This record gives sequence, C-alpha cells and structure tokens, in this order.
Amino acid sequence: MFKMKNSIRENNSLLVLSEIINRPEVSRAMISELTGLNKATVSEIVRRLIEDNYVIEIGPGKSTSAGGRRPIQLTVNKKAGVSISFDVRYDRISYLATYLDGEKLEYTVEEKEMNKDNIVETITDIVNTAKGEIGDIPFGIIGVTVSIHGIVHDNKIEFTPYFNLNEIDLGSKLEEALDLPIHLENEANLSALAESAFDNEHQNIISFSAHTGIGAGIILDGKLYRGHKGRSGEVGHTVLYPNGKACPCGNQGCLEQYCSTKAIVKRYQDLRGNSSLTFDDLIESYHQKESSTLNLILQFAKDFGIGLMNVIGNYDPEVVYINSELLEEIPELISLLNHYLSMTIYKHVVIKQSLLGKRASLYGATVLNLQEFLHVDNVEFSLNMEKVLEG
Ligand SMILES: [Zn+2]
Repeated sequence: MFKMKNSIRENNSLLVLSEIINRPEVSRAMISELTGLNKATVSEIVRRLIEDNYVIEIGPGKSTSAGGRRPIQLTVNKKAGVSISFDVRYDRISYLATYLDGEKLEYTVEEKEMNKDNIVETITDIVNTAKGEIGDIPFGIIGVTVSIHGIVHDNKIEFTPYFNLNEIDLGSKLEEALDLPIHLENEANLSALAESAFDNEHQNIISFSAHTGIGAGIILDGKLYRGHKGRSGEVGHTVLYPNGKACPCGNQGCLEQYCSTKAIVKRYQDLRGNSSLTFDDLIESYHQKESSTLNLILQFAKDFGIGLMNVIGNYDPEVVYINSELLEEIPELISLLNHYLSMTIYKHVVIKQSLLGKRASLYGATVLNLQEFLHVDNVEFSLNMEKVLEG
C-alpha cells in the first residue's frame, strides 16, 4: 500500500490541523480554546505545521475595537497540494483538479464510451498531464479518487451493472501506473460527502443520485455510512414491482429499472415507439405539455417517491439532496415530492435539489482525498458557489 511521506499521525497535530482546515482563518489562541490544548502545545504544533508547509500565517490582523492588536491568523496552505477527482460512467468521464481548500484548477467532461480496456490509460494520461502543469509544489498530487457508478468495497470494484469495470483491479493498476494514493468509491457515497462538506447545518444527510443507476449516499451524525460490504444505500435495487422488469443485479422490478435517467428515456421511447428519441426530446415534449409525456413524468414521480420514502424510512435524515438530470430539468418535481412527504410521518424531512449537480461526486472525491491525506474526519468547504458551478 502506498504511504505518503508527509503524513502526520500524531493526534494533537491532527486536532490542530482540522481546526485550521475547517475555518477560513483562526488564531493560535482560538485553537487553544477550541481544542482544550494549552497555548505552548498549540504554538509548538503550529510551528511544525508551518515548517512542514501544511499551514501559513496571514496577518497580523487589524486592531480590535478595544484597541488590542488582532493576533496573527493561520490558514491552510491551500496551494501546497492538488487533489484529483474522476467520475466514470459507461458513456462519460469527468475530471476535476482542486487546491487543498477545494478551489477549482480544472474541470472537464468528455463524452466517451468507458470500459476496462481504456480506463487505465485515459486516467493515467490526464494525471500525467496535470503533473507537468502543476510543477514543483510541496506535496504535489495528494491523491486520485475515482467515483464509480457501482458497488465498491475496500478499494475494489465489485459490481458495475452497465459496463465491465469490475473485471479489472483498477485501484492496483492505477497505483502501479501513477505511484500515487488511489481511492475508489461509489458515486452516491461521494455525492453525499460533497453535499455534507458544503452544507454546514445538517449532520444527517442523504444524497439520492439517479443517473445510469440509482443509489443513495448516507451521512449519519456527520459520517459516511458505507455498510458492512459497501452496499449501504443500494436503493436502486430495492423492489418497486415484484415480477417486474429483470435487472442485472439478479432481481426483478428494481427501482432503477423504472426511475434511472436511462430507464425513463427508455420508457419514453417505448411510449412513442421510436428508439432514437433522446433525453432532450423527452424534456422538450414535457415542456410542450404533451399529455402522454405528462402522464409518464407523473408516474415517474410516484415511483421515485416510493423509492425515496423507503430510504428516508430507513435512516430518518434531516435533509435529502436529489442529484438527477431529470429533476434538474423539471425542478417542480421537487415540490411534488415534498408534497408526497408532507402527507406522511416523514413530513419533517426536507427534499432539496443537489447543491452541486453533476459536479457532486467530483467534489466528494476531493473530500475523500483530503480526509485520507490529512487524516481528518470532517472537511467543510467555504467556497463561493458561483465559482464552484461556473465553467
Ligand atoms: Zn436490481
């Protein structure tokens, strides 16, 4: 297993560092108050963190209204390292590079058929190009996390229903090719980590992703819950219609055979008897209020609501973020889903549109890189949302 040379493992140092990372700026005295460590200990730890390039001083600040001088503020040295994220679907690969505070360096999306034969080379080429562009910074690339639309356990891909990535040991191959820490994680889990890093109000969050498949990422008391074998939140394979459509998971009538983006486009094509119709055609037909399409979307909302309520009933979250191209195009469905909930015992739960949309899993991958590199449990971003979503 790859080990970072610069990793810090001493508990008090981690405590101090996590206080610095999770705030735009903070003083030594404030860290002492927040952690309960005495001032001399904090000063010594901070001295070492500065020496090792994790932290920089900003200030001294302005004088306070009482006339005293504002103490020197500390902040994470965000440009000391770069995090790299990928999201891989059967038909697309997305890439995000950020500094340590999550600030975007580069974001690209390429429509391309992805499979076990081209994934290692595709990722390696992009990372090697990035290495050259980043140049000589203290930590270089801190980690590469790949978001997988399938089941991942212990850095191994175990099930990818719509392509064959499970047939190779992607983590080991990338580690060999790049000599960097490589993390593989389920797309919905990463999306949940991202929503949690941007939502500083809630500790119990579900991120419900509906793309080629359907999955939920579950944050309980501020921590990602993966389950025993990485199968928590596999809501796409809960049964909606017994004896319904066959699913690659081995069951019949699974939710994702009716409500994934792929499935809803197929339902629209079947309705019209035309297999060349696309997602955009479906949206246009909805906006033109064609009655059969309106009925199809209403049926979708009912089915989707059942899947949603099943997962809400299991985990009792405060908020559910929906990450779906369809609900981005038809945002009024969010109100309809909240209306369904309001008639149940789950009326205290709020359903919201994802804060990050198609970038969610990529920012979640950034969170995972930071958690692993810095050995911290919680990462909170305080970024300008307009900048996050531009480009
Ligand atoms: Zn299934």
